[in-house]
Amino acid sequence: MSGRPEVLFPLFAELEGLDGVGPKTAQAFAGLAIQKPRDLLFTLPSAVIDRHLRPSVRDVAPPGIATVDVLIGAHIPARQKGRPYRVLVEDSAQEFQIVFFHARPDYLQRILPTGQRRVVSGKLEVFDGVYQMAHPDYILRSDEVSDLPRFEPVYPLASGINQRLMRRAQASLRPDVPDLPEWIDVAQKEKSGWPTWREALTIAHQPTSTRDLTYDAPARQRLAYDEFLAHQLTLALARLTQRRSKGVSTVGTGAHLARARGALGFTPTSAQTRAIDEIIADMALPRRMNRLLQGDVGSGKTWVAMAGLLTAVEAGAQGALMAPTEILARQHADGLSELAKVAGVQLTLLTGRDKGAERRRKLAEIADGTAQIVIGTHAVFQRDVEFQRLGLAVVDEQHRFGVAQRMALGEKGDTVDILVMTATPIPRSLALTQYGDMDVSVLDEKPPGRQPVKTSLASTERLVEVVAHLKEAVAGGRQAYWVCPLVEESETVSLTAAQSRFEHLRAEFGEAQVDLVHGQLQPAEKDAAMARFVSGKSRILVATTVIEVGVNVPSATIMVIERAESFGLAQLHQLRGRVGRGTGASTCLLLYDHPLSDAAERRLKLMRDTDDGFRISEVDLAMRGAGDVIGTAQSGLPRFKIADLERQSDLMAIAQSDARALLSIDPDLTGPRGKAARLLLWLMEQEKAIRLMQIG
Ligand code: ADP
Ligand code: MG
Repeated sequence: MSGRPEVLFPLFAELEGLDGVGPKTAQAFAGLAIQKPRDLLFTLPSAVIDRHLRPSVRDVAPPGIATVDVLIGAHIPARQKGRPYRVLVEDSAQEFQIVFFHARPDYLQRILPTGQRRVVSGKLEVFDGVYQMAHPDYILRSDEVSDLPRFEPVYPLASGINQRLMRRAQASLRPDVPDLPEWIDVAQKEKSGWPTWREALTIAHQPTSTRDLTYDAPARQRLAYDEFLAHQLTLALARLTQRRSKGVSTVGTGAHLARARGALGFTPTSAQTRAIDEIIADMALPRRMNRLLQGDVGSGKTWVAMAGLLTAVEAGAQGALMAPTEILARQHADGLSELAKVAGVQLTLLTGRDKGAERRRKLAEIADGTAQIVIGTHAVFQRDVEFQRLGLAVVDEQHRFGVAQRMALGEKGDTVDILVMTATPIPRSLALTQYGDMDVSVLDEKPPGRQPVKTSLASTERLVEVVAHLKEAVAGGRQAYWVCPLVEESETVSLTAAQSRFEHLRAEFGEAQVDLVHGQLQPAEKDAAMARFVSGKSRILVATTVIEVGVNVPSATIMVIERAESFGLAQLHQLRGRVGRGTGASTCLLLYDHPLSDAAERRLKLMRDTDDGFRISEVDLAMRGAGDVIGTAQSGLPRFKIADLERQSDLMAIAQSDARALLSIDPDLTGPRGKAARLLLWLMEQEKAIRLMQIG
């Protein structure tokens, strides 16, 4: 199938075909990310108003919506300008007032004639002990009462879109919604008691109680599941395509690896050994590896990566390690060059800084295979970098890259094995969302002898005390990081903050003791500062969050984070992970600006009380939402319109196994359910999957 299926045409038509939607309204809908009828259909009510007729306002707890039949009494015009116009009314048990501001008396006399009955519906409030309803939503004669919806959905709005408009557009779309064949596994659907797709939409748009709006209401669950399933089908299709592609079997001799292991200053943990075994076994298979290595900060991922790279070299291929920052690439190269030397392997560092002849020389070595292991930033993967024979590509700190970027990397060469590493512990539902197409190795154990980092909180007001303590610690031979916040609105402001803290600490500790690194420094200056700190020449490193990922200076045992409340929990965990990497006891001090919001206080206390990255990530997800946990912009996380990753996370796991199961029995999606699944992919605009289906 080459184009969108016809049955979906009405949902991808112009919005302007809908009742009450002209060009201006169509434009206003964009404020809600609604471009076409499909988007409107997936915009569900967030609340429901119950307008059923009650005997008396006494049956309603104010403030709340009341619908009552009243006898209209006297009108009391406003005595002064700016005061309300009142109409006294009485239901079966209670007198109350209907009030209007800026009223036109003749109009009000007409719609609320004294001595007659009307049904009024609106928000009931109590002022000075008097029941009031200001500007009722409905005032109806008894012959009009049937017009009153018993339940009224409340939609999210944007400027230029009111409820009436939204409801009207929704209602006019409803008859155009096609009946689609079922893509959900029958057993799953029955077990969960889910309605059909079309029924689910009807129910979701016409809720009759707040229960219908909850995340476990069957109709909502089904619609959320549809989104997850579409996403997981995309990942599963990518996985399948990649598994079908040729790939090569990369089998090492174990010789380089053995020599390097002998030169390690430590014994690998059993988790490291297990992960290495999994990777080596996977590389040996005649298909392409697509594997995630997940391990908390400090769990020793670098050695695992090196083992894979050496295996590739043993097999006569090359290995590449890609890091997100220059500092990190450099550090990897420094740390691994000794091991490479022992193994007799040529290791080359290539970064954006290599220019001219130097760069050309390195590129030539990479192209002719002299460079066996290449470490670098993204520059390594720029187009002009050609490997003689790349066997394994390792991507460090994967959380910095999105799903799409990673998939693009995979498309570079279909025989290259891929290992991505992430230190961000993420809840299972997110892991499935981001990495559902991959196989996973986990480092669930830290090297022995690590002492937990002792974390404490202090208000910035106690800065003088903090500096005094730090002086004692530095005098006692310790080293510290001092992290200044990245001010989102302005890089200049954050640099100024870091700069002024740097000068302050230099004044306190002496020039030679304190260094500064941030993103805007000249590369050489950055290197020099890092080098002084690593060698112990300087004792305090003031930094912006450039040190967040990966930096490894085991002798640094103190971490001070300013304005800790402005960081995400995952980021704090990463930052804190910079200490506690050696055998010395480490401390982390979270400085905050007074006063803290309740949420911020809860977050910082959680940091103080636990060192468990997974626990932290679960709470982070619950408190902030999925996009933020991974870092919205670069997360590449799909945006779900209906589904909620936090509250419906269990559905994601079901969707993954279901998607894989469907593809295992119908890899080309040509059976009845497969065809329905194709419709789902079109409906959910899974372009990547659609492309894969067309190739496959
Ligand atoms: P990660 O990248 O997972 O955060 P690293 O690979 O940078 O962690 O390792 C952190 C520190 O622990 C490094 O100094 C490394 O040399 C050391 N290390 C790694 N594995 C072990 C081990 N099995 N025993 C002792 N130290 C280890
Ligand atoms: Mg690392």
